[in-house]
Amino acid sequence: MAKNLSSIAKLKKIKYFLISFVDLFGVLRSKLVPAQAISEMQKNGAGFAGFATWLDMTPADTDMFAIPDPDSLIQLPWNKEVGWLASDLWMGGKPVKASPRVMLKNQIEKLSKKDLVMKSGVECEYFLISPDGSKIADERDTQSKPCYDQSALMRRYDLIKEICDSMIELGWNPYQNDHEDANGQFEMNWDYSDCLTTADRHTFFKFMVKSLAEKHGLRATFMPKPFQNLTGNGCHAHISLWKDKQNKFLETGDRLGLSKTAYNFLGGIMKLAQPLAAFFNPTVNSYRRINAPPTKSGASWSPSSISYSGNNRTHMIRVPDPGRFELRLMDGSSNPYLLQAGVIAAGLDGLNNRTDPGEPLTCNMYTDYKNYSHLKKLPDEIEESIKELEDNKELKEAFGEDVINSYIKLKKEELDEFNRQESFNKKDPITEWERKNTLDC
Ligand SMILES: [Mg+2]
Repeated sequence: MAKNLSSIAKLKKIKYFLISFVDLFGVLRSKLVPAQAISEMQKNGAGFAGFATWLDMTPADTDMFAIPDPDSLIQLPWNKEVGWLASDLWMGGKPVKASPRVMLKNQIEKLSKKDLVMKSGVECEYFLISPDGSKIADERDTQSKPCYDQSALMRRYDLIKEICDSMIELGWNPYQNDHEDANGQFEMNWDYSDCLTTADRHTFFKFMVKSLAEKHGLRATFMPKPFQNLTGNGCHAHISLWKDKQNKFLETGDRLGLSKTAYNFLGGIMKLAQPLAAFFNPTVNSYRRINAPPTKSGASWSPSSISYSGNNRTHMIRVPDPGRFELRLMDGSSNPYLLQAGVIAAGLDGLNNRTDPGEPLTCNMYTDYKNYSHLKKLPDEIEESIKELEDNKELKEAFGEDVINSYIKLKKEELDEFNRQESFNKKDPITEWERKNTLDC
């Protein structure tokens, strides 16, 4: 039987629930519902006007309902009166097919028909900046190679500790925190889980980091490239497929420790990387991070060509250890649910077609890219990614043509708005539109 949220509220002294959902552009939306009303909301959902968010709906549509998943409940560690809930969207008695959490659940269901579960972990990089968004918050954080800088990390101890303590309390099992490659940039890692749990936690993590940064007088941004000359915010994902307790990606006799299943799954992602960029690199600003020139630190840490390797960070896919791979394409603006859903959809295509990814490369792709001009390149701007997605039959088949068309329609509307005000050139400074629309992504 499903957990009773009303009883949980009494037990845990929760006064309010945030019934939340993520729209197609990854924006976290919610209603704050008093505990006395949660019983009815748990059954029928909280009502929203869907068209007012980034979903393909009109003002003539009926109400949309967010039905909370009680298993996703998180009591805010910094405000115990509030319980956060991820929800699935429903309209007219049916799930909204073109809504991110439903899209992910549909892919999970397809994978389950093969008795497989995808487990994943995400590495959400972020910057701590001034509240007005104009500069790095820590004025002393100016080194040209600031990665793992202990002093800069410890100047943010109070905030990092509060976030990490929160994750410990929530049972996420965090295991390391560091200063990343750009000035003002940090990363915090916690354990991997089944991919729906990871998507919910990823969504909550961004909300938590932004909220706690604000509490400490700072602003956190996951924007892919908030500063032109510095390394951008990636959101690398570590992927494996499991059947019961068995990792189906693990093959100890293989040189990279990967099974045929893993190579096929990875092959599907490589094959569809160009259209997938519309999900993984969904903003105008995303394309300042991929295909980028080296930054102040000497490396962009992000891919430009579609290739894979062993433990080598210059490729789009890295195999750091036997039994899993790391996909380095995604950035901080990627929608937590579409990130996981896109990986499954492409991976499944690879499994079904036994896609061969070819031989792994061992070169330094940042310096040797000129010798690999035969490799497929990642899109150079959002317009190209949208076009790739529009022309792609595999992803349309995986998600439904109507679902992909809804996404494309909204992305094109957004792009039109951008083009009316600005033009995109990655050599030019970051536009005001990008800052206004991506700093809080
Ligand atoms: Mg990192």
